[in-house]
Amino acid sequence: MAKKNIPYDQKYYDPEIECMPRPELEKLQLERLQAMVKYAYENTVYYKRSFDEAGVKPEDITSLADIEKFPFIDKKTERETQHVGSFFGEMCSVPEEDVVFMATSSGSTGVPTVSPFTQEDFDLWQSTEARLFWQAGMRPNDRYVHGLNFALYVGGPDVMGAQELGALAIWVGAVPSDRLLFVLKQYQPTVIWTSPSYAWALGEKAKEKGFDPREDFSIHTIIVAGEPGGSISSTREAIEDLWGAKVVDFFGLSDIYGACAAMCEAKDGLHIVEDQILVETVDPTTGEVLEPGSVGELTYTTLMKKARPMIRFRSGDIGYVSTDKCECGRTLARIHVTGRKDEMFIVGAVNVFPSDVEYVVRASKGLTGEYSIRVYDENYTTRYEVSVERALGSEEPYAEVAKRVEAALKAHCGVRPAKVIVYDAGKLGTSSAHKASRFVDERTQK
Ligand SMILES: [Zn+2]
Repeated sequence: MAKKNIPYDQKYYDPEIECMPRPELEKLQLERLQAMVKYAYENTVYYKRSFDEAGVKPEDITSLADIEKFPFIDKKTERETQHVGSFFGEMCSVPEEDVVFMATSSGSTGVPTVSPFTQEDFDLWQSTEARLFWQAGMRPNDRYVHGLNFALYVGGPDVMGAQELGALAIWVGAVPSDRLLFVLKQYQPTVIWTSPSYAWALGEKAKEKGFDPREDFSIHTIIVAGEPGGSISSTREAIEDLWGAKVVDFFGLSDIYGACAAMCEAKDGLHIVEDQILVETVDPTTGEVLEPGSVGELTYTTLMKKARPMIRFRSGDIGYVSTDKCECGRTLARIHVTGRKDEMFIVGAVNVFPSDVEYVVRASKGLTGEYSIRVYDENYTTRYEVSVERALGSEEPYAEVAKRVEAALKAHCGVRPAKVIVYDAGKLGTSSAHKASRFVDERTQK
């Protein structure tokens, strides 16, 4: 049974928080920030040392802007302090016996970082997931397939948020596509969460097996996360068209929560749970705080987390924040993530993100939508080449496809690729992975 008894046609799960006037919301954030900074200073080896070294005290926070005086943390800080002095290390604020759950990062950019949760953290996290699922359109009469990995991954337990909402949660995990297609056919679930590249690949696989994803299954909503695809309109629309279902983008960080931001029906950025997280945008090089709306590195401060407060965490994601009221009626700020700082490449003074390339590939006719990008240095200049696949049944000459894609990339990204390589459908080998690796970085100077 659902934890909260809400009429199905009620738009908001928690209207008081989701639609709180911003002055009130900021007052709530300030109270929570003051308490959290004090808590972190008094209970955490790392923050005590770092604040003392920076010459700042919890009492220095008298407005939200005062957070600017406090030092940043990042993945490196997490790595260097974890397991130091105790199992969870110097950033953990509670004794190990108070921690009931841990997730880890994938380790794709170094040693995995461990994220601890108290029972209180875990419960708050799952009620947050329930709120985001409701926003995505899930209701207690939905059957929900959780297609995310459960092994150490912070997205795993999010399935419990669907249960809290009252939906039927089907704990599938990351299984081979044949098994997942069996689940979709046999149990006719209505909502699924997976990665955008896998949502695409699974739909294609279903067609190969003789299913019509629009007719043979009952999926009305596909939640996606883990890759930028859900916020790239051409990718989202291609998946929606393939499945005859709505695609809703979610965003999370293993350092904080499974999902802490979700798209609404306006599809213009993801509402972040500002009652629990303070978001700043900072200059990726200098760390200077930027105005809302400016593009920079998204930086998060947790306002509620007890096991490990994150104060000014530089996420490595580049994007911007909108604080104007959304047409859905929610007042919570929206984040727009453009890409990873370490995947941005500069060609002829133009900043390019893999998501820009993806937009073009998914919007171009006559391609399968699969692609890979190779970035390399030649004669001290950064160049990029893009590989694509020609759609099954297309007879357009390879050279024509390449020319067309090159021109579209020049128009959208502002800079022409060194080369576009065209493969036959299925030959690129990017379509099978849950989280596809499409970016090959061979730059010698970054
Ligand atoms: Zn909205």
